[in-house]
Amino acid sequence: MTARDRRAGSGEEGSERGAAMEVEILELTDMEVKFILRGVEPSFANALRRAMLTEVPKLAIDEVNIYENTSPLFDEILALRLALIPLRAENIDEFVFPEECECKGEGCGFCQVSFTLSAQSPESVGERVVYSDELISSDEKVRPYPNIPIVKLISRETRINGIKTISRQSVMLEAIARLGVGKKHAKWQPATVCGYKNLPVIEIDEKKCDLCGKCVEECPKQILEATTVLRVKDEKLCSLCKLCEDVCDRDAIKVSYDKNSFIFNVESDGSYDAWELVLRAARALRGKYVKLAVVVAEVAERTKALA
Ligand code: SF4
Ligand code: SF4
Ligand SMILES: [Zn+2]
Repeated sequence: MTARDRRAGSGEEGSERGAAMEVEILELTDMEVKFILRGVEPSFANALRRAMLTEVPKLAIDEVNIYENTSPLFDEILALRLALIPLRAENIDEFVFPEECECKGEGCGFCQVSFTLSAQSPESVGERVVYSDELISSDEKVRPYPNIPIVKLISRETRINGIKTISRQSVMLEAIARLGVGKKHAKWQPATVCGYKNLPVIEIDEKKCDLCGKCVEECPKQILEATTVLRVKDEKLCSLCKLCEDVCDRDAIKVSYDKNSFIFNVESDGSYDAWELVLRAARALRGKYVKLAVVVAEVAERTKALA
């Protein structure tokens, strides 16, 4: 992605100042994205955060049929662990919620995917960890996030009437994944981290500042530097603690924030790339606003007709 791609104005009126909404990506990997959202109301920033946590549908294991479990984990704990394994589906948009499916919730290829797991501890004394990679999917386009430990299976030596035998532990189960959203249950929450803070603004009055350096020493983020002038290395790192203001006798530094700009920090659980998660949350919000606009228009129409 080029620097140019990283800045995208939507053209929408975002704040009371009439500034256009603007996005600047600061850091981007498959799992994490850090970006600045400018020109929006605090309520919109919060709505976007909530949409990432609660409105973006994903697949998660919702039902487990356990045929055998001699592992140290109770069935319920095993099922809970399975439910929290992120599932990555290339064909996620082909799935529908079970309650909206034509099968009427009975279960079909459009509303569920099944996984099987059959694992045993080693043949000799020892142990092995069963990982999410061992779940076999009924749909090759839906895969569990790899390398997530599920359960440790242990083989022990036992003696019965002086005869040595190896007792092995095993797990055999079928897990069924369904589409859902985070507001229904946390297992359908696609973001593990989703937070924001206002964009800090640090103003220095050079006429008042005598470069004593007290604020430089006090700043816990070490973003202030006094050379020939007092300089801020990176405003974005400021925690808004205002310790620099408190320590300055000359009232030469002021820390505030831009109430219409927000630094977001988002981490995906692996079911989506982090940036795709943000886009899907924005789309989910747009869908809600469109529905709201239709309802408001209908109410306005009826009120007009009654008048
Ligand atoms: S404490 Fe005040 S006067 Fe001293 S360097 Fe910082 S801003 Fe300048
Ligand atoms: S508000 Fe806190 S973090 Fe920000 S510049 Fe001042 S001392 Fe540093
Ligand atoms: Zn169905």
